[in-house]
Amino acid sequence: MLISVHATIGAIIGENVSKPLLAFVFSFISHFLLDLIPHGDKELIKAYRNDFKNKAMLYLIYFDLITTPILLVLLFYTGQISYSQTVLWGIIGGVLPDILVAIHEISDKFFTRTHKFHNWTHEKFKWSIPLKFGIIVQIIIIYLILRYQ
Ligand SMILES: [Zn+2]
Repeated sequence: MLISVHATIGAIIGENVSKPLLAFVFSFISHFLLDLIPHGDKELIKAYRNDFKNKAMLYLIYFDLITTPILLVLLFYTGQISYSQTVLWGIIGGVLPDILVAIHEISDKFFTRTHKFHNWTHEKFKWSIPLKFGIIVQIIIIYLILRYQ
């Protein structure tokens, strides 16, 4: 799932709990729960395995990396989230699993169990959906969470 979704939900979890540690733990867990929802990442993974010959997928990742801080700043400005330690730890917990996966992919040895578990969450429900629908699913998730937090 997009980093922007994990970061936003981590921030919102942080906004709604009292302790940074709780924000971190709940957000970390939320990452795997969110990844259970079919969201079309198979196309991204396939592009990654093919050294990003499909440039659109690479641009999507860049887009995600650029929009994540923009989205968070917007949430701060609109008052949806406040700048606090718990929000910060929520964001860190929300994105950490993907960072651990990246470290595993680069090193080919660290965080093997996290990597396996992360893959398992993506494959738990066998029905995969095209990425374009996956993006719509993720936009709906962000919308609903922001609307009803
Ligand atoms: Zn993930």
